[in-house]
Amino acid sequence: MRKGKINVQTENIFPIIKKFLYSDHEIFLRELISNAVDATQKLKTLSSMGEFKGDTGDVKIEVKLDSKAKTLAISDKGIGMTADEVEKYINQIAFSSAEEWIDKVKSAGENNGIIGHFGLGFYSSFMVAKKVEIQTRSWQKGAKAVKWECEGNPEFEISEIKKKERGTDIILHIADDSTEFLEESRILALLKKYCKFLPVEILFGKETEYKTEKDEKGEDKQVPVEKDRIINNPKPAWTQKPADLKDEDYKSFYRELYPLTFEEPLFNIHLNVDYPFTLTGILYFPKVKQNFEVQRDKIQLYSNQVFVTDSVEGIVPDFLTLLHGVLDSPDIPLNVSRSFLQSDSNVKKISGHITKKVADKLEELFKSNREDFEKKWDDIKIFIQYGMISDEKFKERAQKFCLLKNVDDKYFTFEEYRNHIKTEQTDKDKKVVHIYASHKEDQHSFINAAKERGYDVLLMDTPIDSHFIQMLETTLEDVSFVRVDADVVEKLIKKDDELPSKLSDEQKDKLKPIVEKQLENQTFHVVFENLSETDQPMLITQPEFMRRMKDMSALGGMSYMGNMPDTYNLVINTNHPTISKIIDETDETSQSKLISQLIDLAMLSKNLLKGEKLTTFIKRSVDLI
Ligand code: ADP
Repeated sequence: MRKGKINVQTENIFPIIKKFLYSDHEIFLRELISNAVDATQKLKTLSSMGEFKGDTGDVKIEVKLDSKAKTLAISDKGIGMTADEVEKYINQIAFSSAEEWIDKVKSAGENNGIIGHFGLGFYSSFMVAKKVEIQTRSWQKGAKAVKWECEGNPEFEISEIKKKERGTDIILHIADDSTEFLEESRILALLKKYCKFLPVEILFGKETEYKTEKDEKGEDKQVPVEKDRIINNPKPAWTQKPADLKDEDYKSFYRELYPLTFEEPLFNIHLNVDYPFTLTGILYFPKVKQNFEVQRDKIQLYSNQVFVTDSVEGIVPDFLTLLHGVLDSPDIPLNVSRSFLQSDSNVKKISGHITKKVADKLEELFKSNREDFEKKWDDIKIFIQYGMISDEKFKERAQKFCLLKNVDDKYFTFEEYRNHIKTEQTDKDKKVVHIYASHKEDQHSFINAAKERGYDVLLMDTPIDSHFIQMLETTLEDVSFVRVDADVVEKLIKKDDELPSKLSDEQKDKLKPIVEKQLENQTFHVVFENLSETDQPMLITQPEFMRRMKDMSALGGMSYMGNMPDTYNLVINTNHPTISKIIDETDETSQSKLISQLIDLAMLSKNLLKGEKLTTFIKRSVDLI
């Protein structure tokens, strides 16, 4: 046996290791298992190069809990280490890299996002153990097995031991304040989190399976069979060639990733790049719900199949965080802060590449099967709109396949739609006016009036639509959007040919205060319009600008707008015969009754007549009949 002292450069790092990343103690397991995987992969490489002769045998990694001895052990059958290698790799290199790592973390400060992932390595075991043993035997012929022991201080012991099998056992004597790591359920959860897709099989504990056997009477019975529990899938779909995978394989991998999600993804993108950076992965398009905040952060980031994080903010553009799936890249620097990540050139390239691939895939789906693309449209629409609003590059690409849907469920590209409406819907300033409804039922009478006029009406019914419209007005040339109830149908598209008014200015001046009186305390602006005789005598419109600003603020951005009252106009049709009749009416009571009736009808068609007002309206209607 030999006692030694690790060459401490700065100060005793053990207390710092223990205290530093308080919340991240659990990562020791990932670090140790990653080492075991590396040692196993190295052995496989030596074997394939012919340096290691003979059979590598069973190379599974085993994790074992001993609650009596209060130990947790990680055993591999990889290359192992000689005594010299332990001295070099554990006492010198690993120790000084742990020291270096701690310096880095200290200078970067706490709360730094991804910092804390990767780097500390073997010595992270001292976050949870009061004593660590390494028992190891190298693959090299005639190598002697050695044991290294250290109790969380710079002194260590190294001695020869008997160990038959090749490989390394790391035995952690769990510290009294870390006994959670002696619980099977805790370790199992950690293994499932970090090791689900590691490339070497990992065993932990036993699990029971039921097999069907025949009993004495020849009837089926269920027999429990204990077997080793395998934690991981060593060959996850993203590491395989796309040509070798069928649609069903992608779907079953999706279920493997999200066992609690029952909905199937719409389609997927298999990423596979090796120059100028390495990136693999599979991204899935889920059905994007209106409330998309809850769906974020489902993408898992791996580095060579080791789980790193499920928060990819800063690594992929914001709108892509709505997608699900995995990204695997050793080229994403993981032990740096998020703000550094955002400016890292590799990260920028990777994120640009993903955006491009997503746009490619959507364009390909659109071109190859438009019918199917239209079927999926409602489920991907929010994603595409959000992408176009937030990402300039994506916007450019998406203009080719982004669709507009009208109230009759017909789909158009921007260009197709422009051609579809330009004859009827170009205004006097040469703007092509896109008319839209945000609610088919509530705005039914307005939609109807527009259609009767020969106009087409789009359906824009999601919370993001007002932002999307705003973006389109600045992107598409000579295009404006107006909601179907923003004005009377004659005025939705401003043309030169205005109808004359049947009311004189004096008549208007006389009528206005009478109508305002009937409005009581409702804040409608009374305006006169020269509409056709067949249009409604009175209607309520909601001017576009204020309403759109308010809608946009509802989705964030301008919160002060949200408290503003709605702005409505009460439009009186100067050419409707009933309006002339009301002016000529001499009996004041019947005059105000008629006006109230018309106001209520206008409110009714805008879905504004409720409660007591509705009751009064019904009573009055019966009276009038
Ligand atoms: P890193 O893995 O980043 O190199 P570590 O501190 O985790 O840093 O490990 C230091 C070195 O110790 C490794 O590079 C490897 O040479 C050696 N090592 C650690 N664990 C094992 C193991 N299970 N089998 C063989 N060698 C190991």
